[in-house]
Amino acid sequence: MSIATTPLHETDERLEHHHAVDQDAPMPERRNGEAAARRRVSDIQDDDDEPMPKRKKIRSSTSHLKIVPETLELRELVKAKAQQFAEKLDHSKPFNKSQLQVWAMQLLGEMSLPEKYSGFAAVMIGNFFWRRQFLATPFERRMLLLPHCLKHAEGCPAEYTEFGLDCERCGACTIADYKVKAEQLGYKVLVAEGSPIVLKIIVGGYVDAVLGVACLNVLEKAIDKVLIAGVPSYAVPLHSGDCHNTSLDESWIWEVLDKYEPIPDARLTGYVSIMRAANRLFDEHFDRLLPPVRSKTPEAAATPLGKTEDISYDWLRNGGKRFRPFITLAAYDAATGGSCLKNFDSNTQPFEFPDSVARVAMSIEAFHKASLVHDDIEDDDLFRYGRETLHRTHGLGPAINVGDHLIGLGYKLIAASRGGPRFVSGTALAAGDGESSPHDSPAASAVPLSLSADISCDVLERMAAAHIKLCDGQGAEMFWQQNPTLDFTPLDALQIYALKTSPAFEAALYAGLRMAGPIEKYEHLVPQFCRHVGIGFQILNDLKDWNGDNDNKMVAGQDALALRPTLIMSLAWQAASAEQRQLMQSCYFDREEQDAIRLARLRRLYEELGVFNKAERLIEKSRDRAELLADDVESEEIRQLLYFLVDTVLADEQDKDPRDSMPKPSPMLVPLPVTTA
Ligand code: SF4
Repeated sequence: MSIATTPLHETDERLEHHHAVDQDAPMPERRNGEAAARRRVSDIQDDDDEPMPKRKKIRSSTSHLKIVPETLELRELVKAKAQQFAEKLDHSKPFNKSQLQVWAMQLLGEMSLPEKYSGFAAVMIGNFFWRRQFLATPFERRMLLLPHCLKHAEGCPAEYTEFGLDCERCGACTIADYKVKAEQLGYKVLVAEGSPIVLKIIVGGYVDAVLGVACLNVLEKAIDKVLIAGVPSYAVPLHSGDCHNTSLDESWIWEVLDKYEPIPDARLTGYVSIMRAANRLFDEHFDRLLPPVRSKTPEAAATPLGKTEDISYDWLRNGGKRFRPFITLAAYDAATGGSCLKNFDSNTQPFEFPDSVARVAMSIEAFHKASLVHDDIEDDDLFRYGRETLHRTHGLGPAINVGDHLIGLGYKLIAASRGGPRFVSGTALAAGDGESSPHDSPAASAVPLSLSADISCDVLERMAAAHIKLCDGQGAEMFWQQNPTLDFTPLDALQIYALKTSPAFEAALYAGLRMAGPIEKYEHLVPQFCRHVGIGFQILNDLKDWNGDNDNKMVAGQDALALRPTLIMSLAWQAASAEQRQLMQSCYFDREEQDAIRLARLRRLYEELGVFNKAERLIEKSRDRAELLADDVESEEIRQLLYFLVDTVLADEQDKDPRDSMPKPSPMLVPLPVTTA
């Protein structure tokens, strides 16, 4: 099969038809067949003539506006004004990135300063927004995050570990001074860059607040991940992003490092509490929510009869960011008044979700993990979550079987979510069933601990639809790879993206909302929102593939080497002249040439054709369209969650487990640099 003989839009049309037949209440938009499918996907195609709908809120990128004020006097002035500004803000809920950017511009406007300082102003406002909660966090619940670029460039004897630079306190740079003092106070200290590892430690429940030193580039990414998750943070910006010649206002660190100012009510509002709840499902609650059957003891787990379950449970328990279960829990929480979101206090018992909701959230992870096992087989990947992939460890047949077992676990978890007592605001009540409508009267409503048959069926139906779409998208990609042709349109790429990623987000979000009550008013919004977010996420992945991974000496352009059909490739083909198409053909298919040379040519061509910029514009369109949908959501809790999802999924830097990117052996590993080859 090739794309040419079975166009993807036909595949999509069949899928839509299939979907309409299967659903009791198909969404009106989905009844329109191919035209609607094309319109939906082409919604975000790069059509500069197409006016964007007017947004009520304006999000503008400030990624290029990250200049630190040049003099200490000016920096101190912005800092002082940011403190006054932040005192007037509503501290009862976390801000989102757009809001912070608007505040930064407002502050600079009041000070008649140029917008080039907006990144710095945003960090200062964020600092004073969270300062009270930061200072109220005991030292032993804080983390000090330092950049490794402060180390002595030539003489540093420290080694890198998975947690960053393991400073030996040789005294050749200031890192040792901060580290010694902070550790004496009780801080955890990390000399690393980037928010993923920090967020991982926070979500793991080890710390509740962060004091960080970093350049504005890194801090902007941290804002995407840490600040908007509601983690009290205080940041000291480096004066430049130049790793070899930078400095900082050291006194700003000492101002807060050893200050502890407890406040009576240190409760926070933020998604980190829900992230932790999602994490606990696969840790302390796992055995209760999904008791083992054939692998109860190590002896039983080692028998042929117990092995599949043992491997499957291990795979489900370990690895991954739990992002899909988080979406389900967060959606459920938002639709029931946001109790978990608003009552995060690490000194009290953590908020727990009803078992039924927890099991459904786990089921999404089970389906996701199953798809990863099969995906690793299809791509013959070597590593996943820092470990060898299952088919490498246990063989192809057993790995396929474990994937199937995980799918079975997903169904089992949904089925087990029926039955049990009712639940109000974190407290289990008397047994009962039925359905309330917490969307309309959030905090006061009793919501079912158990799921009714209707809810279970609705959730199941959405999971099944997501599963089928994922297989269709994955299948389309594999069939294209069997008979690759560059005559592959952006529409084809977007259809694959819409099938591969969006349905999983959709199922996770839908399940959380549906378990909280009737969902009519979100029926249209959920798939549309998730389609934009999912497509944007995939395009972001395309771009990241061309950014490479310098830390691991991985070369950019792996998708092209592996002949993956991407939007970038299709945009290039569409824009290329006959001569440029010939060049593309040779870059993709002429295996006689060295990989590095082929990729360097391809990158140059893509730059000439402007496809990276086009892809970036498409991500922005996806983001804008998703936010436009969120703007109209009445419930503030659900609206805020949707903004958070956009900010998180479409962040510049995805929350990548550093162990995921273990170097792969030749031929996937090719020498750097490609740009000069
Ligand atoms: S103090 Fe630590 S980070 Fe600085 S040069 Fe010495 S070992 Fe390296």
